[in-house]
Amino acid sequence: MASLEYQREWRKKNLEHVREYGRRWRKKNLEKERKSDRQWYEKNREKKREYHRQWYKKNPEKVRERKRQWRKKNPEKGREYCRGWNRRFRLRIIEHLGGKCNRCGITDVRVLQIDHINGGGRRELRSLSRHQYYHLVFSDTIGKYQLLCANCNWIKKYESNENPNKAERERNMPIVNPINPIKPTPKG
Ligand SMILES: [Zn+2]
Repeated sequence: MASLEYQREWRKKNLEHVREYGRRWRKKNLEKERKSDRQWYEKNREKKREYHRQWYKKNPEKVRERKRQWRKKNPEKGREYCRGWNRRFRLRIIEHLGGKCNRCGITDVRVLQIDHINGGGRRELRSLSRHQYYHLVFSDTIGKYQLLCANCNWIKKYESNENPNKAERERNMPIVNPINPIKPTPKG
């Protein structure tokens, strides 16, 4: 009992010293703990990544379902992501196809469009997803696609009358401005 009493007395007298010792001990061990956590993480990082990769490969339905759920919860973010993806891919395609209108040479990406040289673009677009469509353009080796600006594209449509829609075709009839009549430019 006497020694306990003595210890208590000693602590009271050396309060600052005791506190300082505790602080140091905690600091030292916290760092140790953190260090071991970090080391464990570094050691197993590749393993963890590989595990996730394998899981994704093995569970395509679950991944799809998760994505669907995420999109339901974050519709705005999902749309944003799609927009970003489409924009990036559009730019890559434009770059891939030369970056300028094949007729007039304009390079403004805002008006550049992908044109099917021999027509049929609408039908193809309707039957494919965006991803598939982009893939098709990138893997094309026979030069099926070209870049045209919106104006040249409409002029080409008018010239070749490739639009299957009757209303559209009528819209493509020669425009006669009653005040300042202009004749369509002759071919060639
Ligand atoms: Zn053009």
